[in-house]
Amino acid sequence: MERKMEEFSYFECVRHSLGEAVHRFKDLINIIQGFATLAQPKASEEFVRNALDQIINASKRAIYLSKEILNVTGERRYEMKVFDLNFLIQSMKTKIDVTVEHYIKVVYELSSIPLMVKLDIEAFNEVLTNLIQNALDAMPEGGTIKIKTDVASLLNKEFAVLSVTDTGTGMDEETQKRIFEPFFTTKGAKGTGLGLSIVYRIVRDHEGSIEVESEVGKGTTFKIYLPLIKDVASLTASSAE
Ligand code: ADP
Repeated sequence: MERKMEEFSYFECVRHSLGEAVHRFKDLINIIQGFATLAQPKASEEFVRNALDQIINASKRAIYLSKEILNVTGERRYEMKVFDLNFLIQSMKTKIDVTVEHYIKVVYELSSIPLMVKLDIEAFNEVLTNLIQNALDAMPEGGTIKIKTDVASLLNKEFAVLSVTDTGTGMDEETQKRIFEPFFTTKGAKGTGLGLSIVYRIVRDHEGSIEVESEVGKGTTFKIYLPLIKDVASLTASSAE
């Protein structure tokens, strides 16, 4: 059973508009804080100095609050750089291997050719960490996580594919339909229901797509497609950004 991310586009539109509005709001507050900070030392009256102090403090709280909202709506700003996906996974191996319990086996199946992709390293870490954490949660009695990289062609475009497969509980169709919704969780108080909505948004922001294949009692595979960078010229230009 496969589900594609396009089905969640209405929610994405709302989230995007909210994120953009919060960014604008934050920029305005920054201006207010900036001018109040400039004016404060020049104010001769104590009352004005105190008023400017209040404005500066309230601005700081508003900026903090905006950042909190942006974390939930996901309208973050990325620092995009070109990486070889295989190299990234290799460099994360040690961290992954120490994260998992001894009763979990992690196997890697990396493609033999470099897979150059453009991504924000922090966001990519978040994606992989979330997928691995979900795989671990689905295998409380142990199992195997396979991390695989590959190339795929979709609509005449080439993509690097990262798959994370587990041998855990799997999901029924009803669950699969809802996994990318924020706050949807089957883990009760232990879950936030935010992990996959964040993964979905990051992948979308990287012009990629995500698919899930799952079978109850057998396990789950998440596949992430990221546009492959093929020509050296665009690669050099991207690295220089
Ligand atoms: P959380 O992990 O906090 O519940 P997520 O958004 O990461 O939030 O996941 C939402 C739900 O998707 C989970 O509660 C679980 O039901 C389901 N899920 C996600 N990954 C897997 C997986 N690998 N195996 C089984 N179920 C999964």
